[in-house]
Amino acid sequence: MIKGVLFDMDGVLIDAKDWHYEALNDALRLFGMPIDRDAHLATFDGLPTRKKLQTLSKSRGLPMRLHEFLNTIKQNRTVEIATERCRPVFQHRFALQQLRSRGMKIAVCSNSVRQSVELMMKLSGLDPMLDMIVSNEDVSKPKPDPEMYQTAMAHLSLQPAETLILEDNDHGIAAARASGAHVMVVGGPEDVHYQAIAQRIVEIEAAPVTA
Ligand SMILES: [Mg+2]
Repeated sequence: MIKGVLFDMDGVLIDAKDWHYEALNDALRLFGMPIDRDAHLATFDGLPTRKKLQTLSKSRGLPMRLHEFLNTIKQNRTVEIATERCRPVFQHRFALQQLRSRGMKIAVCSNSVRQSVELMMKLSGLDPMLDMIVSNEDVSKPKPDPEMYQTAMAHLSLQPAETLILEDNDHGIAAARASGAHVMVVGGPEDVHYQAIAQRIVEIEAAPVTA
């Protein structure tokens, strides 16, 4: 029986891939080091900003002493962009409402900083349907480590076998699989609707128990 559904945020509940790319690039451009969109999607998507900056220092010699400043600018730009563009999406609100009405626990587990997750959940009208938010500031290791999902399951008293995780990219999918929970891989926020989630739950519950 599935008793809880855990959602990644970016690329699952919020169409924020470009927002993070633009925000980081606005910061990097100040130092003449913008990155192109394909490189961002291929290498950086889904990673915390601090990890992205570490990678840029290794691969392109971005001075480490700029990390703190770049991170602050990036986070401020993310807030500005999200405030401009983040709006409620009916299919997502409906999906979470339906899952809640079935008694399921719901959490968002995101590699973003807490301020961004809280802001985007509020602007998208999803925050009243959430039992919990786990941000990268609430764990010692971000995704692809499973700690975020393990934290949510422990807090919500969910076993991995009772949990479904929705994820969209490699780092997140690796984290979800390593947590031992069931995984639903989506191509983007447009794939996240109640019927699809309910169908996945039917499949899981119909499968023979192998453990
Ligand atoms: Mg994602």
